[in-house]
Amino acid sequence: METKGKLYIETYGCQMNFSDTQIVNSIMTDHHFETTPHIEDADLIFINTCSIRDNAEKRVRARLQEFKRYKKQKPGLVIGVLGCMAERLKEQLIEQEKMVDVIVGPDAYRDLPRLLDVAETGQKAINVMLSADETYADISPVRLDGNGVAAFISIMRGCENFCSYCVVPFTRGRERSRDPKTIVDEAAGLFNEGFREITLLGQNVNSYKDDNGNGFPGLLAQVAAISPELRVRFATSHPKDLSDELLQTMAAWPNICRSIHLPVQSGSDRILKLMNRKYTREWYINRIQAIKKYLPECALSTDIISGFSSETEEDHQQTLELMRYVGYDYAYMFKYSERPNTLAAKKHKDDVAEEVKSRRLKEIIDLQQKLSLKSNKQDIGKTCEVLIENESKKSKNELSGRNSQNKVVVFPKGNQQPGEYVQVKITACTPATLRGIIVEA
Ligand code: SF4
Repeated sequence: METKGKLYIETYGCQMNFSDTQIVNSIMTDHHFETTPHIEDADLIFINTCSIRDNAEKRVRARLQEFKRYKKQKPGLVIGVLGCMAERLKEQLIEQEKMVDVIVGPDAYRDLPRLLDVAETGQKAINVMLSADETYADISPVRLDGNGVAAFISIMRGCENFCSYCVVPFTRGRERSRDPKTIVDEAAGLFNEGFREITLLGQNVNSYKDDNGNGFPGLLAQVAAISPELRVRFATSHPKDLSDELLQTMAAWPNICRSIHLPVQSGSDRILKLMNRKYTREWYINRIQAIKKYLPECALSTDIISGFSSETEEDHQQTLELMRYVGYDYAYMFKYSERPNTLAAKKHKDDVAEEVKSRRLKEIIDLQQKLSLKSNKQDIGKTCEVLIENESKKSKNELSGRNSQNKVVVFPKGNQQPGEYVQVKITACTPATLRGIIVEA
């Protein structure tokens, strides 16, 4: 069948969005669209958007302005906005951005072919219906980017935690888990294709539950059982649901990687309450102690927000103090960005001055740099198993990969290839990278 046109798609935001783009690629390929990496060749431009912070939306609006140029050059060109910003703004986006023809929310991608037919008639087309059961489980993602070694599999959609600052429950809807058989089959298929690492994805993987009530530890063990050569990771965990059973399952399978991403957001109980995070500092520390008990070599990363509503200097100091106590290997750190229609926007004044937010964020980043360097220095002299992913970004004579702790390791190239495991002795480090030499292939 002749191709209906060329699709160029740009994706922003979290890994869930990049996984959704692979679903969109699959749906569009099935409907005889060809994807192109060259925007100037496109008959159809999709931008898959993020809404987590104001800056993320500003970036999308700037891109849409740039897309106008292509529309002038190719009048029949169709522009579609997908993802969380489409879901959050709905019809408003069509009023505000005249060049946009199609608006599609994260649960409505199956409707894309029909929406494009509507757009072809010159009308604006929109579907932002959220679904209580859509998981796209029967759609095989088309992975056009990536290194052929590590892949992401989304195991569930939506979130019901309603943290007061977060738009996700409004843009991605209620939680629903994929049928476990479709997940294990997809992972086994990827392993047979040569992938050697799978990351299981969800806003809060710990609340995964299949139709028979089986939880995440069971699913994780099923995926790990595919092959000892297959590394398994998962993200993101919510501290309130991180169970000892999960930690024991990890300890039982050496190919489940020793790294846990456990967003804390703040070290102050008062702020955690205002954020509606549903755990206390003490509970969080209890979970950290449990991780260190069952998985002593496990790396820890987190998310931190500086300057949330009414945050005092003392609250901020409690966050810094908790970071020192945990000794995070890595962290994603942001200033609080008030999001419209969230609980926080309705109930909690965004009253911390921008320069105070920036100063506190800088202190958090500076401390994390020290903690990351301290953690990496402790690896010098040790040998770790690295899954080779690519040539190093900096030199063609070097290879790079990650160890079980999710740390990037760079080393001189031998005759090994991406997808192979090597033993690397660590000889040097920076806060972000370990450097070493191959001691055994
Ligand atoms: S857990 Fe909280 S921060 Fe994370 S996606 Fe859900 S509501 Fe947002």
